[in-house]
Amino acid sequence: MRTRRAATALTAALALTLTLAACGQSSAGGSNEKKDSTGGTIGIAMPTKSSERWIADGNNMVAEFKKLGYKTDLQYGEDDVDQQVSQIENMITKGVDVLVVAAIDGRALSDVLRQAGEQGIKVISYDRLILGSPDIDYYASFDNEKVGELQAGYIVDKLGLKTGAKGPFTIELFAGSPDDNNTRYFFQGAWKTLKPYIDSKQLVVRSKQTALDQVTTLRWDGGTAQRRMDDLLTSAYSTEDVDAVLSPYDGISIGILSALKSDGYGTAAKPYPVVTGQDAEVASVKSIIAGQQTQTVYKDTRALAKQAVQMADAVLHDKKPEVNDVKTYNNEKKVVPSFLLNPVSVDKSNYQSVLVDSGYIKASDLK
Ligand code: BGC
Repeated sequence: MRTRRAATALTAALALTLTLAACGQSSAGGSNEKKDSTGGTIGIAMPTKSSERWIADGNNMVAEFKKLGYKTDLQYGEDDVDQQVSQIENMITKGVDVLVVAAIDGRALSDVLRQAGEQGIKVISYDRLILGSPDIDYYASFDNEKVGELQAGYIVDKLGLKTGAKGPFTIELFAGSPDDNNTRYFFQGAWKTLKPYIDSKQLVVRSKQTALDQVTTLRWDGGTAQRRMDDLLTSAYSTEDVDAVLSPYDGISIGILSALKSDGYGTAAKPYPVVTGQDAEVASVKSIIAGQQTQTVYKDTRALAKQAVQMADAVLHDKKPEVNDVKTYNNEKKVVPSFLLNPVSVDKSNYQSVLVDSGYIKASDLK
């Protein structure tokens, strides 16, 4: 198993030891310590600590890899693309055996991953598909189109659109970061669910901003979403209230809700619109309990971490990882074999059973 890799890693390790020795430092005991004879070292590159989910993803993977005897080097790029590239470069130099990467910009990693490929390091694209690079081996994620379907489907149900109820209702659309491949899948799922009602005029987008490139939110930033919502309320909702806001992520939903609150929403006369979300972050679940945000989409990051770990463990033992989709995720160089997990819609009625009873969120954190 991994003979060429092992040789390269050994050379890199030797170089590192020599460099450290020259600097009078020791490599022992650090998080980047070389692999021992039983395991190996896994480089884990995560996008940011600004959102709870990525912190959980990183910690869960570290714990799962440790159980199997691997060492880990976990790094967060803090939404800075260059920083993520250099973190991955360092991991390659230090001779990791596998890379698990959740990209900040899905198109910015081709060069660095070419180096990984040349050294025989297998790469697992984590949650967000890395685009334009042939040096991707596997993809672990959720059914991303279904996330959008769940968000939009919730709006359709909540407004009673299927039964042809009252209306028309007003709606505004938000999407995620344009450089994240998931964004278009989430939006595609939501758009195909909402479009029939927009066509029939049961739903009206007063801003007329319905194209993906008009509604994205760079780096999923809540403040950016808040400013856009402020602008929308000023320009399109001076005479009418907004009834629903499609939001792709909890951090964006919180920004949207701040803008709504400043505009006087949240009273009996002017209730909050239906506001969706994603990730079941604690702040958003609290907001749901308080009757502000309406819905979120729960994605069990514990299960995702386990999938990525089984993929890495399998490739390091020259086995085929378990996958359940070999057709959906084409990264423009190849169809990347994937394992896709199931997202779940959560609102006030089921947060207890789905999030608390499953141990995903502690009841005390919601106080
Ligand atoms: C993830 C979402 C997350 C978003 C913002 C997406 O790639 O799939 O779970 O809400 O990034 O971090």
